[in-house]
Amino acid sequence: MRDFAYARAGRAAEAVQLVARSADAAFIAGGTDLLNLMKDGAEDHDLVIDINHLPLAGIEESGGRLRIGALAKMADVALHPVVRKRLPVLSQALLASASPQVRHMASIGGNLLQRTRCWYFRGEDFACNKREPGAGCAALEGRSRWHAVLGGSDHCIAVHPSDLAVALRALDATAHTLGPGGPRTIAMADFHREPGATPHLENALRHGELITAVEVPLPAPDTRQRYLKLRDRATFEFAVVSVATVLRMNGQTVEEARLAFGGIATRPWRSPEAEAALRGKPLTERNIAAAGRLLVQDAQPREDNTFKVELVQRALQDVLGRFTGGSR
Ligand SMILES: Cc1cc2nc3c(=O)[nH]c(=O)nc-3n(C[C@H](O)[C@H](O)[C@H](O)COP(=O)(O)OP(=O)(O)OC[C@H]3O[C@@H](n4cnc5c(N)ncnc54)[C@H](O)[C@@H]3O)c2cc1C
Ligand code: SF4
Repeated sequence: MRDFAYARAGRAAEAVQLVARSADAAFIAGGTDLLNLMKDGAEDHDLVIDINHLPLAGIEESGGRLRIGALAKMADVALHPVVRKRLPVLSQALLASASPQVRHMASIGGNLLQRTRCWYFRGEDFACNKREPGAGCAALEGRSRWHAVLGGSDHCIAVHPSDLAVALRALDATAHTLGPGGPRTIAMADFHREPGATPHLENALRHGELITAVEVPLPAPDTRQRYLKLRDRATFEFAVVSVATVLRMNGQTVEEARLAFGGIATRPWRSPEAEAALRGKPLTERNIAAAGRLLVQDAQPREDNTFKVELVQRALQDVLGRFTGGSR
């Protein structure tokens, strides 16, 4: 780890200014990802700007929406009464993330901006287009068990690791930011990017742009929600496959299904085709299977991760089957 300078920002505009004016500066919130990256040599920063003293940790309900400050801790958001009652998919996704210790340190904004866990990215000795544009991608011919089957490119197949981002995608949340050009609102659908030919550009933020809050529309009280995370061990582990569901039923018929997936794609993944296949239909095993096939129709698995194509369909069957008291 190289030496770096540290400064504490007192106001959001000051933090933005300090980071925006130096290409090598970064914000630091909980530091649970940033410091690991700096220690591993995957990121180098001359200056880190501590944003923990900015007044951005509040959680407020108003006008049918919940506004969650970017500095709210994962643990506090997971256990907030409105989140538990009205946004259980969000609470479940957060409680399934990391460990209690990490959740008490880590912030909502930092979670959305955590970098991939691709071990070639985090190991300095491997070729990685994300770490060094144009260097190549060791994962393409390497160990790809943890990598993406959807949304990848010839340049990168790393999965997005955040559970929170998957839940927020299903909830149609938006992020509020403050940048050198002023405030912006970015839909979660547009927040994370597919790698294409530029895997080092992971999201819609500009350098120096600070996430100030995440806003979630509160679904109708009878909306069914669930987060299912499949992983190699029960805790302190990233998803092999995850599914966030937000479902509105009219009797036995699906009125609206919002399905988001983690562990299988280069960004939190929605499949409009799979959602449309369920709309207006009962939640039978057959209809769910048809939706699952549409979800993976463009999947491009590699030798080590072919299993994800079937596993994600089984996960969908499981999570939706539970809403009907179904067979699984
Ligand atoms: C062992 C371990 C297991 C984990 N398991 C999981 C898991 O299962 N699921 C999961 O989702 N996560 C998991 N994580 C990741 C963890 O959730 C993230 O490290 C954490 O959420 C990052 O938040 P932070 O506040 O510490 O961010 P930091 O490390 O402080 O920052 C991360 C990045 O975000 C930027 N940043 C931070 N806040 C802002 C802001 N407001 N505006 C703009 N930029 C900002 C920083 O500059 C940096 O680039 C795990 C982490 C560890 C160490
Ligand atoms: S998959 Fe992406 S992050 Fe991993 S080595 Fe290849 S370019 Fe780097």
